[in-house]
Amino acid sequence: MSSLAQQPGIAEQMAALGSAWLPTEPLSRHTSLGVGGPADLVRVRDLRRLAELIADLRRRGVNWRLLGGGTNLLVVDEGLEDVVLHLRREPDGVRFDGPRVEVPAAANLGTAVMECAKRNLGGMEGLIGVPGTVGGALHMNAGAYGTQIGDVVRAVTVYRGSAGRVEVLRTEDVRFEYRHSSFAANDILLSVSLELPERPYEEILERIKQCNQKRRVSQPIKEKSAGCIFKNPPGHSTGRMIDELGLKGARLGGAVISERHANFIVNRYGATAADIFRLMDLIREKVLKAYGLELEEEVIVWRN
Ligand SMILES: Cc1cc2nc3c(=O)[nH]c(=O)nc-3n(C[C@H](O)[C@H](O)[C@H](O)COP(=O)(O)OP(=O)(O)OC[C@H]3O[C@@H](n4cnc5c(N)ncnc54)[C@H](O)[C@@H]3O)c2cc1C
Repeated sequence: MSSLAQQPGIAEQMAALGSAWLPTEPLSRHTSLGVGGPADLVRVRDLRRLAELIADLRRRGVNWRLLGGGTNLLVVDEGLEDVVLHLRREPDGVRFDGPRVEVPAAANLGTAVMECAKRNLGGMEGLIGVPGTVGGALHMNAGAYGTQIGDVVRAVTVYRGSAGRVEVLRTEDVRFEYRHSSFAANDILLSVSLELPERPYEEILERIKQCNQKRRVSQPIKEKSAGCIFKNPPGHSTGRMIDELGLKGARLGGAVISERHANFIVNRYGATAADIFRLMDLIREKVLKAYGLELEEEVIVWRN
């Protein structure tokens, strides 16, 4: 529980700031892994009042974190003391101006890829099937099948926690690296401007179908997961190493190393976050021993 929950009339005060108050919300409901204890959730309904909301939280000494689609998050079982902010999806969605596209950060990434395709705009086909929001994809520099979102970004509109105001950052102001971007921890990405190559719809659709097919064959997309748990060390495939160690199918509690993709841990039997951490430790230990490589987490871990 956050310190905010102890303050009288907080639901009304959040409503006055254009947000909804959802106390002790189980985060397992908001993460694709289906694990995570409770936290006080603030659903930001009016983005124009975001600065006021953050200033209010700061005055009260309350720390916050930002939840996107929850598809790359591992949240501890005991829950969080920080407040979790969740941005409402904008009703007006994606806006087009020739090859330029403006997408709200809270938009679903797959929907945005398809909407662009319908306007004969390609360049993001590889990202089809990456679940979650456009904001989460930017923060992580999500990528697949030779495409990463950072490659098509022109500008990002950001609420900068440090400055307390909204700024527009150009591509040259942001570094996009392998599953990492240079945005600050208290930056809230609000929307992105993309520049996409024009291509015939049929061509884009064909590539989307190919990527979907590859994903269906190689990933446990019907099970609860957070995608790849560890990054690939330079020149190595973490999935291949885990597979070579014979760890596919290894189970601890309710968590299992996927038989389909060894770098995916799936919540198959009502796993807790603790089960997943134990399985991660096992992988880390075995890979270090066998290959002398220290694995870095790709999943973002939320703990107190
Ligand atoms: C089945 C499956 C397949 C996947 N395949 C891929 C893949 O091929 N490639 C890949 O790169 N990833 C993959 N992932 C991982 C995940 O989908 C991506 O990392 C995704 O981009 C995360 O987006 P999200 O909205 O769910 O972010 P979340 O998981 O909610 O958050 C991730 C991080 O982004 C931050 N964040 C979210 N929104 C914002 C915002 N508006 N402003 C600032 N920070 C924000 C959060 O605070 C957090 O630190 C896969 C996951 C699953 C479950």
